[in-house]
Amino acid sequence: MDLGRAAKVIKGLRLPPYRLDQVRRAVYGHCVSSYGEVSVLPLELRQELARSAPILSCSLRECRVSADGLARKAALALLDGKVIETVLLRPSPRRWTACVSTQVGCAFNCAFCATGAMGFVRDLTAEEISDQVLFWRQNMRQEGLEGRLDNVVYMGMGEPLANYEAVAESLRRVLDPKQHGIGARHVSVSTVGIPKGIERFGEDFPQVNLAVSLHAAEDGLRSRLVPANRTFPLADLSRALERYLGSSSRKVMLEYALLAGVNDRPGDADALVAFVRRLGRPGLFHVNLILYNPIEGPWRPSSEPEARRFQDRLLAAGLKVTLRQSLGSDIQGACGQLASERS
Ligand code: SF4
Repeated sequence: MDLGRAAKVIKGLRLPPYRLDQVRRAVYGHCVSSYGEVSVLPLELRQELARSAPILSCSLRECRVSADGLARKAALALLDGKVIETVLLRPSPRRWTACVSTQVGCAFNCAFCATGAMGFVRDLTAEEISDQVLFWRQNMRQEGLEGRLDNVVYMGMGEPLANYEAVAESLRRVLDPKQHGIGARHVSVSTVGIPKGIERFGEDFPQVNLAVSLHAAEDGLRSRLVPANRTFPLADLSRALERYLGSSSRKVMLEYALLAGVNDRPGDADALVAFVRRLGRPGLFHVNLILYNPIEGPWRPSSEPEARRFQDRLLAAGLKVTLRQSLGSDIQGACGQLASERS
């Protein structure tokens, strides 16, 4: 949905500006999936909007719902036929979180990521990113799902800070009270750790949460798991985070997927503690341990007892830590798995 395009259509037909408000309310307030449903608009306007300002820039290819109903994953076809995926999660009974993609594929090739294995295809536009939120809001209405979509995480396919301009514009749309109106503190952007992008993001969106895909706190191991670390080693990441904390007062999430025998040993936990302490303000970091959703390849998730031991070691050192089970492992829950199958 691009309100600018709808405004042009309304102007072209010499209709009064209040028509745009009616379109906006129908699309974002009532989550209509077709202009045909908006009977307050004149027929000629509905037809022209459908031709020149379509509500969604994508269409549903496939949607899978996890057995427990807590996760839905959709493969969406874009206008050029490329396929992305987007996820809807229900972390608590009446609240829903949308996880959105920012690129088709990804150039960063993290070792355990299905999207990375696809390679980079193209950046998404701001419209294609924010339309994933609109898609889920429409889907919730069509499926009669109760509760509110009030959280958005930029943790799907792609590296958000490598597509900065489109991501920034999509954030403005997601936050805009006249569009999705999601509170900044309920929006998170995740990055592998591009220093300049982190600093700019802190200046532009100081209220939006930042998550860093850390996965290891020692350069050798992190370079194996997250090859971007060869270009932006931990020292550069630390400096960027220190500057980020100068402009944003938000807590930074450190994402850490636990891989059996790879990054879940006591020494790995100690390296993580040292990394956070070196940043100087340990209270401003929250470690999010993730029980990894396996894809093809050598990596296996840590067992639950191992994961608990790792968590306990961090807690004993005074870090803030949560351990989270990935939702939706029965619906190809790991990032990029469904889109790779469908493209
Ligand atoms: S984890 Fe994120 S940055 Fe790394 S390859 Fe996957 S999509 Fe790209």
